[in-house]
Amino acid sequence: MKADVAILGAGIIGAQAAVQLAERGLKVVLVDPGPPGGEQAASFGNAAWLSSHSVTPPSAPGIWKQVPKWLRDPLGPLSVRPAYLPKALPWLLRYVAAGSTEQKLRKVAAELRTLLKDAPSLHEEIAARAGVPELINARSGLMHVYPDRAGYDADGLGWRIRRELGIVCDEIEGPELARCQPDLAKTYTFAVNVPEAGQCLDPGAYCAALVRFAQTLGARIIAARATGFRSENGRLLAVETSQGEIACDAAVIACGARSTALAGKAGDHVPLESERGYHVTVEGGANLPGPTTSVMVSDRKVVISRLAGGIRCAGQVEIASPDAAPDWRRAEIMRTHLAAVFPDLDTGDARVWLGLRPSTPDGKPVIARARGIRGVVHCFGHGHVGLVSSARSGRLAAQLVAGYAPEIDLSPFSAARFRS
Ligand SMILES: Cc1cc2nc3c(=O)[nH]c(=O)nc-3n(C[C@H](O)[C@H](O)[C@H](O)COP(=O)(O)OP(=O)(O)OC[C@H]3O[C@@H](n4cnc5c(N)ncnc54)[C@H](O)[C@@H]3O)c2cc1C
Repeated sequence: MKADVAILGAGIIGAQAAVQLAERGLKVVLVDPGPPGGEQAASFGNAAWLSSHSVTPPSAPGIWKQVPKWLRDPLGPLSVRPAYLPKALPWLLRYVAAGSTEQKLRKVAAELRTLLKDAPSLHEEIAARAGVPELINARSGLMHVYPDRAGYDADGLGWRIRRELGIVCDEIEGPELARCQPDLAKTYTFAVNVPEAGQCLDPGAYCAALVRFAQTLGARIIAARATGFRSENGRLLAVETSQGEIACDAAVIACGARSTALAGKAGDHVPLESERGYHVTVEGGANLPGPTTSVMVSDRKVVISRLAGGIRCAGQVEIASPDAAPDWRRAEIMRTHLAAVFPDLDTGDARVWLGLRPSTPDGKPVIARARGIRGVVHCFGHGHVGLVSSARSGRLAAQLVAGYAPEIDLSPFSAARFRS
């Protein structure tokens, strides 16, 4: 049966797009070789932050000075596998350039804010429609903790930019911090709470629930890998997959870190690397020692979240081939961080995971119509903010497919920005 739209990839971006399109009455097919929100997807194991304030790109002025360290220290918070350097170099140069001046950071921040604004409420609404309101806490707030005020001052530019965009950031110090985070190591004496931000309680389950909801609205799932497109006179006729062709009028590329080959076949060459990240999760119930509000631990560059099923510590950036074997020593480092930040938590028995952040060099996704084939829409490259931005990204993909005017200006998210 011919579909109106084939969505390629059933991570959180594809899942959100599927819901939006199915709710508009379109015949949707979701294509993914893995289970929706399964362990193969970044959407399974992320830190669960609905951080509408995550507006600054990962790069920053002067970051190039760190490059030798990234290559020397394979277990540092950001590392590049030396053998992979020649492949990653063009991307790394663009990454360094993207954050090289305050002006560039401010521009990206203002652009990303249009995508992230109100994200916690958007997730709350969609989770309610999908019958899983318990998976979203839109009013949890999120906290960045520092050993002391000096650490916070060193991050001053990012906080100034957020405040300029109207984001409320409340400072918490000393005994007040100890009161609101009683299990936190006493070596942390300063924090910033962002009340507008929220949290998901189980990112993998949320993604799977959205796909189930789309199925109740008529969407079908096909377990296959998309491999290309068939078109005539520049107009999409079908998606080619490992299980044969799917005839369709439109397709959304939402394959996360594995989107580049398909995007290229649709006429756009997008620099995308996988910023590989790890997590450890200590499984258990609400009585586990851990954060009251999810925390970003500034000096260790990890996020620690209380989820429905336990306490998760997630982070690290490893630039390496998406197919390279995991370096589980990194997960051990996460376990060490978790034990140091919440000393009463028994971290002896923890599940480990590796996931691929689909990252463009400037920290912004590509949400655009493809240049080479009419009917193909890009929606990938969400990097560090794929969960939080997914609710609006899914709506935007649906608006592009259905031919409506997009609800925000999409020029900052075009594929054309990489053409020079
Ligand atoms: C450690 C870590 C912590 C993070 N923390 C946060 C956070 O707190 N908040 C936040 O907003 N973001 C966070 N992120 C980022 C976020 O998880 C990602 O940006 C987001 O999950 C990307 O979603 P996606 O749907 O684009 O990709 P994915 O979730 O990776 O899904 C892509 C899907 O496409 C499928 N696929 C691949 N190739 C094909 C093909 N050829 N045909 C069909 N299907 C295919 C895959 O099987 C997969 O299911 C984190 C990421 C990591 C790794």
